[in-house]
Amino acid sequence: MAGGAYWAMMKRIVIVAGLIDAAWIPMYAVIGAPFLAALSGVSVLAYAAAYWLIGQRRNKAAAVLVWAEVMLHAALGSLLIGWDSGFHYFLLIFIPALVVGSSRRWAVPLVGLLLTFYLGLYAACQALGPLSPLQPWALQLAYGVNVLLVFGMFYAMAAFYRATVIQAERRLLAAATTDPLTGLANRAAFHQRAQSELAQGRRRGEPVSLMLADVDFFKRINDELGHEAGDLVLVSLADLMRQTLREVDVLARWGGEEFLVLLPSADVSKATAVAERLRQAVADARIDIGARTVQVTMSFGVAQVQEHHDLQLATQSADQALYGSKRDGRNRVSCASPTAGAQPALA
Ligand code: GH3
Ligand code: MG
Ligand code: MG
Repeated sequence: MAGGAYWAMMKRIVIVAGLIDAAWIPMYAVIGAPFLAALSGVSVLAYAAAYWLIGQRRNKAAAVLVWAEVMLHAALGSLLIGWDSGFHYFLLIFIPALVVGSSRRWAVPLVGLLLTFYLGLYAACQALGPLSPLQPWALQLAYGVNVLLVFGMFYAMAAFYRATVIQAERRLLAAATTDPLTGLANRAAFHQRAQSELAQGRRRGEPVSLMLADVDFFKRINDELGHEAGDLVLVSLADLMRQTLREVDVLARWGGEEFLVLLPSADVSKATAVAERLRQAVADARIDIGARTVQVTMSFGVAQVQEHHDLQLATQSADQALYGSKRDGRNRVSCASPTAGAQPALA
């Protein structure tokens, strides 16, 4: 778990624990346990101090204070009104907290230490008996309250860990499927979505087309304006393409300054028209880079996915068509013939 999230959780736990302890002070006074009421008062102060320490980023000091508070509270509560008070259950909350919060090397010894403390407390309670016994009904009330609290705390902790894992999964998935510069799908994500679109198109007997687009003379932009300016141009072009295409089209950054688009329900003439619309939009665009404005053009290769094509063959076909556009002077759209190389489409 990220350190920041862990300490944000600790801050919340400290607030809740402090409030609960404050709420118990009158209850302990009523059931005839003034020692426990005073102990809860000390706990409130300790949690307030821990909250302040976390705010000061003195996390280790806060952790030691919370540790000491819970251990002392559990120990004194158990010794004063007996093991049956259920105060010892609070020690169990440290098991997940220790395993998640400490390094692998320290988790086992620390949990071992906790276990020793737990068993030592049990032995002391058995040997001494309650030092300040309560009426049976009052002991049962304290037990019920403690069990309820421990259940609530375990629930809150588990819910937090679950949310953290789900968030981490989402972040990992986004990182694994997205191009970090443009936010477009990367190759892996394109493959996955394109395969399913292709299968769906075949099932429905609908045409599917591919379009490969490459920025013309992009190297010059890098050379003349710098790599960062080149990056900004790529981001702007990605946005422009995303806005111009349909929701159903799958747009990906294929490589450096190349973009690949899969167009479901589009035959070669429809895909060529879409490519031409994109070409025009790019050529008309003025891209702001700081104080300067840049104009670029793109070349396009379009191929309808044929019966004998898999994704790789169809991409090769679009690439051949793109090569035709470059050869014929750039800033144009070429489409692949169903069987062979590129045919000029629109100039
Ligand atoms: P052509 O019209 O033939 O496509 O010419 P070109 O200059 O665009 O083609 P070339 O393949 O020679 O150059 C592509 C350049 O794209 C080279 C590389 O430095 C640049 N490039 C690749 N990825 C990135 C990137 O992420 N950011 C930037 N700024 N430049 C990149
Ligand atoms: Mg290029
Ligand atoms: Mg290129």
